[in-house]
Amino acid sequence: MIFQLTCTRCGTSLPFRIRDIRCVCGGTLAVEYDMERVRRRLTQDRLRGRAASMWRYRELLPVRHDKHIVSLGEGWTPLVRLEAAAKSLSLGGLWIKRDEQNPTGSFKARGFSAAVSVAQEHGIRRVAVNSNGNAASALAAYAARAGMEAFVFVPRDCPRPIVEECLLYGARTVYVDGLIHDAGRIVGEGEAEQLWHHVGTLQEPGRAEGKKTMGLELAEQLSWQLPDVIVYPTGGGSGVIGMWRAFAQLRELGWVGERLPRFVSVQEAGCQPIVDAMSGRPHTAKGDSAPTGMRVPNPPDLELVVSVLRASGGTAIAVTGDEIGQARKAMGAQGISSSPEGAATWAAMIRLTADGWIRKREKVVLFNTCHAMKYTAGETEPVAVVRNYAEWAGLGLD
Ligand SMILES: *Cc1c(COP(=O)(O)O)cnc(C)c1O
Ligand SMILES: [Zn+2]
Repeated sequence: MIFQLTCTRCGTSLPFRIRDIRCVCGGTLAVEYDMERVRRRLTQDRLRGRAASMWRYRELLPVRHDKHIVSLGEGWTPLVRLEAAAKSLSLGGLWIKRDEQNPTGSFKARGFSAAVSVAQEHGIRRVAVNSNGNAASALAAYAARAGMEAFVFVPRDCPRPIVEECLLYGARTVYVDGLIHDAGRIVGEGEAEQLWHHVGTLQEPGRAEGKKTMGLELAEQLSWQLPDVIVYPTGGGSGVIGMWRAFAQLRELGWVGERLPRFVSVQEAGCQPIVDAMSGRPHTAKGDSAPTGMRVPNPPDLELVVSVLRASGGTAIAVTGDEIGQARKAMGAQGISSSPEGAATWAAMIRLTADGWIRKREKVVLFNTCHAMKYTAGETEPVAVVRNYAEWAGLGLD
């Protein structure tokens, strides 16, 4: 066994497969590796000489043969330290993981590089996904790179630049009159008809594994000293699930200490199923918020996300659209462009430091998961329009 599937709920192990990754008990099946083999092949010394890509951790990714890897240069994104903000908030360190600097402008590239590679290894030629946008354009790009046909289904309010991106990569792009789970039903029914392979969140084993590399990278970039708190904008939760597995695997290798970071899942008020589940409120699948990567009213395995948050000693928090707007400005004033999702992590961090949940001298990592440009609708105007210097000078704005 190089890798197999193991149920995250009941622990049953099964041979690796790419479809039906739900166990008979209802739990999600996750990839488990022969850690002795990993230990022999992956050393910190060897890592130093490897390419600056998420495939530097290839022993911990579920692809057997290098020739099946579908890569566009994803991963190994900058981890930028925000010294001044850390100081004014009395933190021991504050970093932002700039995952918008991935191919297709979002961290979804990680998941789809892995999922499309796995699909390639299993001879799949047609792939489809339901998405609020970023998963669609990432699938479109990686499918094009692999020579596969891609079908993407997005809600009608998906940001236009993302739709155009999907079309540029040649994906069959369809608006769905509904939310992401309505789109998911269409993709699921198409898969049942054997039209395509469904690469939606937690529908196959590759995406969560690709997302896992965020955790591996973060650990390596911090010289294997994990932070105290990770603040992550959460939709379906594959990033939370993936990073938690990354840390568990690093702990098994003995590369990080026993204590793992506390995860904070950030959502937007109006679509906060994880926040509700954490506080025991009944779940109502509402999607009354902006169309961001966090707007997932029905996460495919809510119970698994909640169990990770609990196991880590973490929490979930909903921030308002206003707080996100203020956070974007605060980050912009530090030279950091942020997507609404990335800004949500800043807003949550501000609230949690103010109420003491994040304590003084703790080390905190925020995630900017997508490029700001993807959501700019051309609504803001510059200060003036001029034809020459005299007109500028006449404005008296200098
Ligand atoms: C998909 C997405 C998220 C949510 O990620 P999950 O790991 O699925 O919870 C957050 N931010 C952006 C920009 C996204 O595209
Ligand atoms: Zn099970």
